[in-house]
Amino acid sequence: MKALQYREIGSAPEVVTVPDPEPGPGQVLLKVSAAGACHSDIAVMSWPAEGFPYALPMTLGHEGVGTVAALGAGVTGLSEGDAVAVYGPWGCGICLNCAAGKENYCLRAADLGINPPGLGAPGSMAEYLIVDDPRHLAPLNGLDPVDAVPLTDAGLTPYHAIKPTLPKLVPGATAVVIGVGGLGHIAVQILRALTSARIVALDVTEDKLALARTVGAHETLLSDDKAAAKVRELTDGRGAQAVFDFVGAQPTVNIAGAVASVEADITIVGIAGGTLPVGFGALPFEASVTAPYWGSRSEFHEVLELARAGAISVHTETYSLDEAPRAYERLHDGTVNGRAVVLP
Ligand code: NAD
Ligand code: ZN
Ligand code: ZN
Repeated sequence: MKALQYREIGSAPEVVTVPDPEPGPGQVLLKVSAAGACHSDIAVMSWPAEGFPYALPMTLGHEGVGTVAALGAGVTGLSEGDAVAVYGPWGCGICLNCAAGKENYCLRAADLGINPPGLGAPGSMAEYLIVDDPRHLAPLNGLDPVDAVPLTDAGLTPYHAIKPTLPKLVPGATAVVIGVGGLGHIAVQILRALTSARIVALDVTEDKLALARTVGAHETLLSDDKAAAKVRELTDGRGAQAVFDFVGAQPTVNIAGAVASVEADITIVGIAGGTLPVGFGALPFEASVTAPYWGSRSEFHEVLELARAGAISVHTETYSLDEAPRAYERLHDGTVNGRAVVLP
């Protein structure tokens, strides 16, 4: 089969031919219908050889949707042809956190060498994908594969980031979203669907700000050194009760801290290496800072339900597998509007 692989440190991903995978006992083989390209893949492909955590070559793609092509020995509850979405942050399924559905925080994944597809295990940017366990699958139940595939990460991660902050987003509150790309443009919609907060979106280009307005942001601002003061102005000096940073670079993390209100939740989702000092006087009183990872299995089902209810409309641009390297070039250059989706 064809697969898009990251083969050598520092080189661009390539479409190659690899052996067709076969499902082992307990596994499920999917014919991939759609695979999403995440900025985390760009980050992974920028990491140096020293300390690189995954074996190369590695088939990319940690967002996947497909149809069941074959069941490994002992798998029940699924049938060939079922259309399913893949929960990516695989865990052991047994530890305390996995028992609560929080496989994103599995206590034993590292020890057991369990990795998400596309981030260690072979990913979804291929004609076929092996899924380790049927519990990592949710039925599409009518969702379109292209619209659904970004929900597996670009939807689930913001959903998980936003959910604990909902009690603070009362009427009159403000939520700031920094970076309106794949994750951010879905975050705006989740905030609109679940809260009555005023949403202020920041990005670096006018076309990203236009997308932010299309998906429901009330105010949009260029993300520059005047942005924090403008958010203060828009909030009569109070600042925002919730800040979601989908970039996570030092300049955006600085903005996140500077726009926060007292008792704000500041959530750093982007992995660009920025840090925010915490300590008496460093941030407004009782502001909390967290850096979450992906989401739980129950939240995965919830975000799919939110899309079925019509609350999320993902903006996508599609590519064939042969064109997939181009999708990553555009993602690297910041020119993708919404999510780039590959159709293997
Ligand atoms: P993306 O490229 O689709 O979107 C990023 C957006 O940020 C773009 O619109 C870009 O124009 C904008 N941006 C860049 N610099 C900016 C700045 N200084 N100020 C404001 N906006 C700026 O990326 P994505 O796939 O949505 O991923 C977003 C981030 O989240 C990445 O760092 C990714 O690695 C990370 N991520 C984290 C998790 C997690 O579990 N924590 C999961 C998925 C992705
Ligand atoms: Zn991702
Ligand atoms: Zn576990």
